[in-house]
Amino acid sequence: MRKKIIAGNWKMNKTLSEATQFVDDVVGKIPADEKVEAIVCAPFPYLASLVEKTKGTNLKVSAQNMHFEDNGAFTGEVSPVMLTDIGVTHVVLGHSERREYFAETDETVNKKTHAAFNHGLTPIVCVGETLEQREANETKSLVETQVKKAIEGLSNEQIAKTIIAYEPIWAIGTGKTASSEDANEVCAHIRNVVKEVTDEATAQAVVIQYGGSVKPSNVDELLAQSDIDGALVGGASLEADSFLQLVEAGTK
Ligand code: PGA
Repeated sequence: MRKKIIAGNWKMNKTLSEATQFVDDVVGKIPADEKVEAIVCAPFPYLASLVEKTKGTNLKVSAQNMHFEDNGAFTGEVSPVMLTDIGVTHVVLGHSERREYFAETDETVNKKTHAAFNHGLTPIVCVGETLEQREANETKSLVETQVKKAIEGLSNEQIAKTIIAYEPIWAIGTGKTASSEDANEVCAHIRNVVKEVTDEATAQAVVIQYGGSVKPSNVDELLAQSDIDGALVGGASLEADSFLQLVEAGTK
């Protein structure tokens, strides 16, 4: 049985005191349940102190992006070496906002997934279609290309450990959620794509999250689907109570 993984993507939000208050509020309340894993994806400046604060707890800390090189003349960038050095365990890669505003491509996402594994980080790879692509019936082929490219060249063992987040762009921050059946259909398709390039055992192991306006009121229905193994949550992860409700839903 796959573990449910609930990741809160704070994006470019919170001050340091708000971030630490959040962790204080949630850390003792995360269920010590084998079935669920809770992650906060925080802005770079807070990662080191949040890692310190969450040591010995079951709340994990993720970055929201990174460069693929270890070091060098890349002003303003953060490397996988730096993330592992401070104890970060996960990194979000290829979020649609990075693809749209910061020129992230399938090629750079692929370089980053390799860099993540080379440094012992677990990548949370985001894929998903725009409204126009959905209406043109291109969702499955687009997501297939994004997934295949992102995991190209990884070993089956690495692919099994990759977290894939299916996030339809039209559902992000809009209050519109894909119906749980539609979301599940795409997640099941992603699992098939993984099977095609690896094998059945790898496809069954890979965790596939849904993201896009997930909140406490719709999370149960989404997580009840056969191929949705968790959620990547923006807006509803910013408040401690709401985040805890989402994590709790993962234990059901
Ligand atoms: P949202 O964001 O939950 O606010 O829609 C999800 C995401 O971008 O990961």
